[in-house]
Amino acid sequence: MSDCIFCKIIQGEIPSVKIYEDDCVFAFMDINPISTGHTLIIPKMHAENIWEIPEADLAAIHVASKKIAQAMRNALDPLGVAALQLNGRGVNQLVMHYHLHLIPRTAEGPEIALTKWDLIPGNMAAIQKTGEKIAAALR
Ligand SMILES: [Zn+2]
Repeated sequence: MSDCIFCKIIQGEIPSVKIYEDDCVFAFMDINPISTGHTLIIPKMHAENIWEIPEADLAAIHVASKKIAQAMRNALDPLGVAALQLNGRGVNQLVMHYHLHLIPRTAEGPEIALTKWDLIPGNMAAIQKTGEKIAAALR
């Protein structure tokens, strides 16, 4: 979709810290992270939400989430990793392209909000560094 920010990220029209890509899936660091390592996993083919996404893309995202969560565990040694996926403006979905959040919680991090949090831009150098650590752990 031409006016979709996530489609533009997939196309490379908007830069991102990519950590993973395969035929169906693209994963990159959230630039407004609610924790160190906050990652988004999206289908390459635009679908707005869980009601629209084809089952094969949904499955591919969750298979990728397992690989990335394993890499997060190896790279960041978190207390845990939350997988969060919001559908619709009523639960605060802000970008209308399906996305699964993977949110590691580290020992110094606070509890993680479920559907609403402040969008606070992260330190891009730190996000890049964390993304490189997770991507390296994927190899
Ligand atoms: Zn899109």
